[in-house]
Order: sequence, then structure tokens, then C-alpha cells
Amino acid sequence: MAVMNRLIQRCGSVRNLCTKSPETDLRKVSSALSSALDENSKVKGRNVHWVFLGCPGVGKGTYAARLSKLLSVPHISTGDLVRHELDSRGPLSSQLAEIVNQGKLISDEIIIDLLSKRLEDAQAKGETGFILDGFPRTLKQAEILEGVTDIDLVINLKLRVEALIAKCLGRRICSECRGNYNVASIDIKGENGSPRMYMPPLLPPSQCESKLITRSDDTEEVVKERLKIYNELSRPVEEYYRSRGKLLEFDLPGGIPESWSKLLQALNLDDDDDEHKKTAAA
Ligand SMILES: [Zn+2]
Repeated sequence: MAVMNRLIQRCGSVRNLCTKSPETDLRKVSSALSSALDENSKVKGRNVHWVFLGCPGVGKGTYAARLSKLLSVPHISTGDLVRHELDSRGPLSSQLAEIVNQGKLISDEIIIDLLSKRLEDAQAKGETGFILDGFPRTLKQAEILEGVTDIDLVINLKLRVEALIAKCLGRRICSECRGNYNVASIDIKGENGSPRMYMPPLLPPSQCESKLITRSDDTEEVVKERLKIYNELSRPVEEYYRSRGKLLEFDLPGGIPESWSKLLQALNLDDDDDEHKKTAAA
């Protein structure tokens, strides 16, 4: 079968890139991913296979969640999968806790393993298609994914760097109800042909006001370092999809109401019940 042949070839080239883990692990998880994806698309025909790219803090989770609701496909976030595995004390949780506590990057093998399990669940639930958020993060992950399924479209969300940093530094969490808020009021004057950018704060209700905390890693230094690492890893991923004609670059023009309607336009979608199943992409 074509998918398996592609996978076998793919594992050959991935093996050369993989230095940290035994190749058998990668082969095993790639194979699980392949069969999960294969079954996933057989169940009820074909739905969208989309990927969201974008740096931490850009808000890709928000847009991916909205689109998944609009198109009735699962929104699969690898960040959520990791958090869920940690909370559920699943088979990988102690290994994951150690990696996360040491501030290390989670290996491709673990991420693909978690993703394969999620797609197997999707199959059991009769879901078709997906919107991936947080995967692929590296060129190696993109190559593995391309070897096992056809990605239709990769949406690269971008935000002006000064807005992005202000947004990350404005994040607050309520220490009591764990609600997420943002105290940054972003208003960047339009100049050199670029329009004014306005993003209002997302302020907490009065009962949370005195209980707001900042994540310890939301300092300017850490935010800038996170962006640097992201850019280094993602540039080859973007180039990979650009060269295959699958990359849609989308500059967020401002806050959610403004950006959402422009994003739908770019994707040829309408936020209208009759149009839910429309999968045409720009
Ligand atoms: Zn609260």
C-alpha cells in the first residue's frame, strides 16, 4: 500500500537525522502514526488535513479551535496532549515530567507517540480530518508527517514582533480560578504603509483582579529567547511547505474579531451554518 511504502522510504531518511533515540523507536511510532492516519481518513471519506504554524503567544490555539468548530474536525494540539498525559499519569507521564521540569525539549519520538494515540482515539470516535496545532515543530517532524499523510494546507500565523512581545508580557493567570487574561493594551501607530494595529486587553472580572499572577517564564528575556528558538526551528519547516505550495502566510491584523473575519476570507470560508463543510482553501 502506498502509504506504507512511503513510510518505509521516509524512515530511511529520518534515521539519518535522528541521533538521540534508537531508530527502532522512531520506526515504531512512525508506523503507529501511519496506520492511525490511514484508518482515520478511511472512516468517512476525507475532511481537511490542516496544520497551524506560529510562534508561542501568537494565538494559534484560539484560531485553530475556532476553525475546528466551524469545520467539525478535531483540533489536535500537541501542547494539550502533553498536559493531558502529565495529568492522567499515563505511561509516559513520569518521563515527561522529568523533561518538562528540566526545561528540555520533548523528543520527536514522544510527540509522535502521543499524536498516534490521539489519532487512534479519533478513529474510535469516528472523527475525520484534523487541524494540528504545535506539530510539526521541526523539519524532521514535517518529513515524518509528509511520509504518512497528505497535508492540504499549512497556515502560518504571524504577528508584528513588538505586538507579540507586549502580548506575552501582558499575560496573567488568576491564581484562584486559573482563568487566562491579558492586561496589555496594544496600539501601534501605522507607519511606512502598514496600518495601525490595535489589540485591546482582555481584563479579568473584578473578583479575579487582586489574584492575578504572571507565569515565571513570561519575562522579556525568556520571551525573546523562546522566539529565537522558535524561529530557528520553524524556518526550515516553513520553507519545506512553501516549496510544496502548501504554505499560506497570514499576518494577523489585530485582535480576534478583526483577524477572524480576514482569516476566513483568506481561507474562502464563511462563518455560516450552510457553509460548514466547505473545505476550499485559498
Ligand atoms: Zn479568578
